[in-house]
Amino acid sequence: MAKIKRTGIDSEYYERSLREYLAQKGLRCTQERVMLLRAATQCPTLFTLEDLQGQTEKMGPFAVTRPTYYNALNLYQKAGLVTSFRSRGQTVYQLTPTDMRIRCLTVCTRCNAAKAVKAKNVDEAVRHVSTRGFSVRTPIVYLYGLCLRCYQEELKQQQSSCKKEK
Ligand SMILES: [Zn+2]
Repeated sequence: MAKIKRTGIDSEYYERSLREYLAQKGLRCTQERVMLLRAATQCPTLFTLEDLQGQTEKMGPFAVTRPTYYNALNLYQKAGLVTSFRSRGQTVYQLTPTDMRIRCLTVCTRCNAAKAVKAKNVDEAVRHVSTRGFSVRTPIVYLYGLCLRCYQEELKQQQSSCKKEK
């Protein structure tokens, strides 16, 4: 995944919220559950399970199985701490923003590179979307397409396949 530099992630907030959620649900606050969330706060803004695995391994020699990652990510989503979407057959995760500021992300459907973009007027437009009877918790606007590199690569591929046809 393309790396987006994180700014001002309050990892304590996520950890505290996780502990509260686990206590509320009567679930055990295991070391893995806390540790993987901590690793998630160190990941790029958008990350895959593999990114989280890589980040966790960087933090120390932990023996965490793939199902543990999967279960932890599901738990964080239930707790509202992580949001996910599908892109090109894989699940892409991100920490749920802690404020209600509207965010706009471009996502490349070829390489999954994601970039936070400034979106003049999007904020206002989204606020005008009729969401009556629906409580918005994660106001993120995703724009899918191709990044410059993938666009150029696709163009090259198209050109070379055209030549072959001749
Ligand atoms: Zn791309």
